[in-house]
Amino acid sequence: MGRLAANPRPVQTVASSVVNKLDALVLGKGPAGLAIAAALCERGLGVGVLGPAGAVHWPARYGAWLDELTPLDLPELVEWVWPETVVGFGPAGGRTLPRAYARVNKTTLAATLLDRCERGKTRWIVGEAAGVIHDRNGSTVRLRDGRDVSTRVVIDASGHRPALVRLPATDTQGFQTAVGWTLETDTYPFSPGQATLMDWDTRDIQPDAVSTPSFLYAMPLGAGRVFVEETVLVSRPAVPFDVLEARLQRRCAALGIPIHRIVEREQVWIPMGGGIPSSRERVIGFGGAAGMVHPATGYLLPRVLEAAPALADAVYQGLEAGDSPRGVARAGWNAIWPADRRRRHALFRFGMETMLRMDAPRMQSFFAAFFSLPDAQWQGYLGDRLSTPEISRVMARVLASAPYGVRGTLLRSALSRPGARLAAALLASRRT
Ligand SMILES: Cc1cc2nc3c(=O)[nH]c(=O)nc-3n(C[C@H](O)[C@H](O)[C@H](O)COP(=O)(O)OP(=O)(O)OC[C@H]3O[C@@H](n4cnc5c(N)ncnc54)[C@H](O)[C@@H]3O)c2cc1C
Repeated sequence: MGRLAANPRPVQTVASSVVNKLDALVLGKGPAGLAIAAALCERGLGVGVLGPAGAVHWPARYGAWLDELTPLDLPELVEWVWPETVVGFGPAGGRTLPRAYARVNKTTLAATLLDRCERGKTRWIVGEAAGVIHDRNGSTVRLRDGRDVSTRVVIDASGHRPALVRLPATDTQGFQTAVGWTLETDTYPFSPGQATLMDWDTRDIQPDAVSTPSFLYAMPLGAGRVFVEETVLVSRPAVPFDVLEARLQRRCAALGIPIHRIVEREQVWIPMGGGIPSSRERVIGFGGAAGMVHPATGYLLPRVLEAAPALADAVYQGLEAGDSPRGVARAGWNAIWPADRRRRHALFRFGMETMLRMDAPRMQSFFAAFFSLPDAQWQGYLGDRLSTPEISRVMARVLASAPYGVRGTLLRSALSRPGARLAAALLASRRT
């Protein structure tokens, strides 16, 4: 678990029981919290950031496509680049994709965002939000220790179990779980310039991996180090970590990777495909708290970095125009979740329902068909850069080229209760 460098300059935290009214209070110092706080500060707003004491701590290691990181206005964002990416489908073969994959330098990312906050008017408040009361002029957030913080707008970036935003109850939520190790080893079967995005070969880790398949995600790190992770793309309920540990152990043995030492371990748990909060919520959500995880991949980081300026613009313009706090919150939600994006989310969730029903052979056939699509289509699907009709066309095309087993799975998921509910939601959102 890497501990990020604290801001080089001392951070003045607010400890008194009275905090002068803020323009915006951001809950959380995760990637989403710092990204939106920095963007609000850059627009000259008075921002408070509420979170735990001490240095910023992001336990995850973030991977992403290089071409999704480079357009972002963030210097030295990339720590490691693999010029090619490999996908494997077991007996159905594999492909080398000429698309670079990167590991995000989370230390410089956090330092850049902290620096942008510091250059603005950020007040760092140590504490935990316990509740909120709204009135016509803004909101008062009550902290666990009894202090109150008064603000015009609240942005909840407190992660996948949000402190204040109400995520809708749903039976369509799944979970991505993974166990990852950074290993010291002298032998591994990966080329130095290639990241393995997913290897669905389950031959050597059967039998339990057939019904809830997992894939290998791996990157050589040089100097006798390699990162390997056993990942369940999505399941319901979540596949436990000890099951994934055992699979990863068997996977390493099968690949002939001797484990000299496990340098770092990580456990991934990401809720996927749950409902999106209503745009009538008075607290604006951001990041995990706003259901922004891509339901087909589990990725969030590129999305929050890209969306922060749009949300900050909406909040800034609303406050500048003297709109009511309710109106500002609504504009904020619409910046994150415009109607078309909500429709796309429903389609992705429908795709996710299908994934949940696929065993290992179907998963292998599905991804073999998926990565045979033209680059613009599979890349657009994974990056959520396609329109709703384009996503439908991608789904239809994969279906047409996939074997019978996969088509049957799609049909069964369409006829299931969650599938029917998602289809109804999609139709309803088309009418709005
Ligand atoms: C090991 C691992 C690997 C991952 N790899 C990737 C990846 O490669 N790519 C990717 O996109 N995603 C990845 N993820 C998922 C990603 O880490 C999460 O989706 C992301 O961290 C969510 O960001 P967030 O800022 O919304 O919330 P968080 O990172 O969870 O941050 C929430 C913040 O809110 C604070 N907080 C909580 N409650 C309160 C409260 N009541 N009051 C005030 N503050 C509060 C917390 O202390 C924390 O500072 C990974 C996750 C894990 C665990």
